[in-house]
Amino acid sequence: MNTESFLEELAALIGPSHLLTADCDTSPYCVDWRQRYFGRALAVALPGTRDEAAALMRLAHRHRVAVVPQGGNTSTCGAATPDTSGRQLVVGLGRLNRVLAIDAGNDTMTLEAGVTLAAAQQLAARHKRLFPLSLASEGSCQIGGNLSTNAGGMAVLRYGTMRELALGLEVILPDGSLIEDLSGLRKDTSGLDIKQLFIGAEGQLGLITAATLRLFPMPTARATALIGVDTPQEGLDWLHRLRDRFGDRLTTFELISLPCLELVRRQNTARVPFMSPWAILLELSDGGDSAALYPPLLECLAQAHTVDGVVAKNEAEREALWALREVLSDSQKREGPSIKHDIAVPCSAIPVFIDEAGAALEAAFPGCRIIAFGHAGDGNLHYNVSATRPGNTDLFDDEERVNGIVYDIVYRHGGTLAAEHGIGQLKRHWLERYKDPAALALMRAIKQLLDPERRMNPGKWL
Ligand SMILES: Cc1cc2nc3c(=O)[nH]c(=O)nc-3n(C[C@H](O)[C@H](O)[C@H](O)COP(=O)(O)OP(=O)(O)OC[C@H]3O[C@@H](n4cnc5c(N)ncnc54)[C@H](O)[C@@H]3O)c2cc1C
Repeated sequence: MNTESFLEELAALIGPSHLLTADCDTSPYCVDWRQRYFGRALAVALPGTRDEAAALMRLAHRHRVAVVPQGGNTSTCGAATPDTSGRQLVVGLGRLNRVLAIDAGNDTMTLEAGVTLAAAQQLAARHKRLFPLSLASEGSCQIGGNLSTNAGGMAVLRYGTMRELALGLEVILPDGSLIEDLSGLRKDTSGLDIKQLFIGAEGQLGLITAATLRLFPMPTARATALIGVDTPQEGLDWLHRLRDRFGDRLTTFELISLPCLELVRRQNTARVPFMSPWAILLELSDGGDSAALYPPLLECLAQAHTVDGVVAKNEAEREALWALREVLSDSQKREGPSIKHDIAVPCSAIPVFIDEAGAALEAAFPGCRIIAFGHAGDGNLHYNVSATRPGNTDLFDDEERVNGIVYDIVYRHGGTLAAEHGIGQLKRHWLERYKDPAALALMRAIKQLLDPERRMNPGKWL
């Protein structure tokens, strides 16, 4: 690579003000959200159109420059951070933020990849439609990043992850060629579904520049409740009871452990209406009037002889219940770092996973604190392990051992070590250990086919 001529050509292509080369300008793009990974970039390029991005990729191909796609940079596993060589080009997608089409009749919208998730939700709402992906990072993360990580969140139970929400994709391959498939088709049996290759690929196969996404009717009725239960199994019984009674109207089903409630009460970050070994935050949603959802929900609670339970009577009370869930990550952060696991097991295995992992960790690290909460309706738990006392960091010397204990149990029960946050740099060596070897070999063969020079987001898991 001739760095000087590459950067000159690139500046001419996208405009000098959209090519950042000074350390003070590039440094925010070179550190991840959790500040675990610090890299150094050759430069940060901010193309403004799809054609500029394609020309950029052709130029990088000609000069053999490695490319690190970056959306909102909210990855929690270092997936969008360049290495320390100073030879990788970060490509920020934030200027590709146009709305390309809204097809209300087809319930779809077509957006460029740099549109933030919050802007996409607002756009849908202006058209009286719902775009259901919802994450705490939605103000910053972008549609391209959501697709590349196959993001999930609070409403997967009803609407699915980005894999289910994407109908079409536009992708620039590492050699600069373009796959343009922005159709809004729900059925297409004309061969393999190529777009799925790029969803969840963490920018290692190509640059996503636009997508056609599914929209849904905007729910007008909601019923939200917090229920106390004694065990995760009792929580799971509730999941089945609610699914049987309400079907797809059950939109959210979150499990929250007692240590979570205790830390929120200790810090007074949200209102905790009662303390119980476990709590379930559930939400039903539908068309029509909320009043219609309440009687059957109350009837369900009465039939189960629920002792601890709060049903939100109005929007303010609903927000207060949601706040309890939303402050958890931040409240835990205030009490020091934790070793985080974003795991999933089949829903039916949640109770046994919680029992076995808790016992194994206690045996290995007596007194360690487990902060477990998450999207139990999807089998997905944020299973965070903290040191014996708030503020201590002693456990971090044993981080790999803690991970090994948790992941061994996850895989024994048919689970995964990455349910929604991806692999990035953080978990790549663990993937090697747990992923089916034939599946991993096939993924590598696909990478070799599309990116033989390994220039797309190198240093990550492929
Ligand atoms: C507070 C907080 C809460 C979160 N909650 C959730 C949650 O509930 N559910 C969940 O799934 N995730 C969650 N996340 C993780 C993160 O927000 C998601 O992974 C999000 O989808 C990443 O989007 P991004 O635009 O920030 O991508 P980035 O972090 O910029 O990039 C992520 C990966 O995608 C690649 N990439 C980005 N844009 C493109 C593109 N256009 N083309 C090709 N590759 C690209 C990058 O190279 C990288 O590999 C959370 C993160 C935070 C900080």
